[in-house]
Amino acid sequence: INYQRATFLTSAPDIKALPADEGIEVAFAGRSNAGKSSALNTLTRQNSLARTSKTPGRTQLINTFSLDAERRLIDLPGYGFAKVPLAVKEKWQKSLAEYLMKRSSLKGLVVLMDIRHPLKDLDQDLIHWAVQSELEVLILLTKSDKLAVGARKKVLSEVREAAMAFMGNVTVHTFSSLNKQGLEELEQVLDTWYGA
Ligand code: GDP
Repeated sequence: INYQRATFLTSAPDIKALPADEGIEVAFAGRSNAGKSSALNTLTRQNSLARTSKTPGRTQLINTFSLDAERRLIDLPGYGFAKVPLAVKEKWQKSLAEYLMKRSSLKGLVVLMDIRHPLKDLDQDLIHWAVQSELEVLILLTKSDKLAVGARKKVLSEVREAAMAFMGNVTVHTFSSLNKQGLEELEQVLDTWYGA
């Protein structure tokens, strides 16, 4: 797939406002600041497809991008803001769980985590819901350039070991938007999910 062809489709305030549930969709999720926008921009070779550094706590939208007539990328709102009220967090978790469980076109979920802070509680919840919904999961350990090669490989094998506990189709790769480490692996996983 030529990810460079990604174009902005819609900004949806909630899952009810998403495009028709047809074709194949892959969603990107992660704690705020995990490097999700940077990864989407790196994947699509576009500097400002996904907006980086948003204001925490603001109403966040689900941004959708079209790759071709049948394939979409979904940019889910970042989570884990300390200052967001509990009620807002709970509402977000409910609608996210609902999205993962009910969205027929959803094939897989990419969960982005800073390689220095992997598998926080909400990351694990998300992976559990995705596995329960029989989705493919890719854990992307971002900002891999922040660690030396040895340390990076150590975290990678630890997270791969931990990922087995989810008992699902969970793949783990490292990734850097800064030096493009792991871009080929990311594309290969997505190509498989998209059936290309
Ligand atoms: P988001 O909130 O998950 O969309 O995260 P962003 O993509 O906005 O990135 C958060 C911060 O991490 C920004 O300051 C980015 O410049 C930085 N960042 C993102 N990806 C990388 C990376 O691969 N390497 C390094 N060193 N910094 C990164």
